[in-house]
Amino acid sequence: MKGSKDNTNSGGRIVALCGGVGGAKLALGLARVLGEDLTVIVNTGDDFEHLGLHISPDIDTVLYTLSGLANRELGWGRRDESWNFMKVLQDLGSETWFQLGDRDLALHVERTRQLKAGNLLTRITGAVAARFGISAQILPVSDDPVRTTVIAEGRPLPFQRYFVEQRCAPVVERIMFDGVAEARPTAQVAAALRDPKLRAVVICPSNPFLSIDPILAVPGMRGLIEAAAVPVIAVSPIIAGKAVKGPTDKIMAELRVPATSQAIVKHYGGLLDGLVVDEADGGDAAALPVESLVTPTLMKTEEDRDRVARAVLDLAARLSARSLAEAGSE
Ligand code: GDP
Repeated sequence: MKGSKDNTNSGGRIVALCGGVGGAKLALGLARVLGEDLTVIVNTGDDFEHLGLHISPDIDTVLYTLSGLANRELGWGRRDESWNFMKVLQDLGSETWFQLGDRDLALHVERTRQLKAGNLLTRITGAVAARFGISAQILPVSDDPVRTTVIAEGRPLPFQRYFVEQRCAPVVERIMFDGVAEARPTAQVAAALRDPKLRAVVICPSNPFLSIDPILAVPGMRGLIEAAAVPVIAVSPIIAGKAVKGPTDKIMAELRVPATSQAIVKHYGGLLDGLVVDEADGGDAAALPVESLVTPTLMKTEEDRDRVARAVLDLAARLSARSLAEAGSE
């Protein structure tokens, strides 16, 4: 955090960086606490073309989660889903490795139609969010294509092939974000991070390598965050040395990064002012080079999501108050 704004009073914008399921849990808590004072900047590295459709899995997870339409049983996709499209695809001998429910499909068809007509992903996402009754602002990090490719066992795998088709089994050597050098944050992303009422930037407990890195790798993003002069706080996706779900700890082991709070702070390379650490990892917290808040971070219920969101806001307020006091004593 450079400089010092008065962020201790409630009110003001929070910008959250978010991937899919893990990140969206906290984004929902923040949305319930903050309403329209929340901007969620979402990873687009998982986006891909499938069966002629543009699919944005993390954006859709955030849209479905914040609108109450998420499928809690499956842990992905829409609730009240039916699967007629997939059944017919199977009868036709077509590709069925990526599951698309009938209701979910409508969103992909409409998004693809609008993109082909020249509309931008940011505007399409905003319009869907409004239709779904979401008051938070949901923004793709960029309207330029960024595509995550996993180099695993010597060969490049497009992200969804690695994640869904191969169920994260191949050993990861490197992760690349194709197109990222030419990508730019959107004007809306820049405006949110330059909002004079910005209170804090929150890095949700998403996979740092697959969900947050593609956001931070967009040229200009780190500079915008650093220039914001507000606390930057992450919630660790690690609980008791393990990922709650998904390949975070597997990838960390493969990349020879220990699954610890210390490693999460180091991974974000000087960007963080604070880390929310699960109580199971609380022993490590005192030695962290950033401020920490230790609390249970497993978000099973809506109340858990609200509670972790409030913990993040408490840590942000504490950091802002400290920075103001330091500025005052200079
Ligand atoms: P994906 O894109 O759908 O894989 O989802 P994300 O990247 O947003 O989230 C995956 C990460 O979320 C994993 O590293 C999990 O450990 C983490 N995660 C999932 N649920 C929780 C939770 O309740 N609490 C915490 N602290 N982390 C969680």
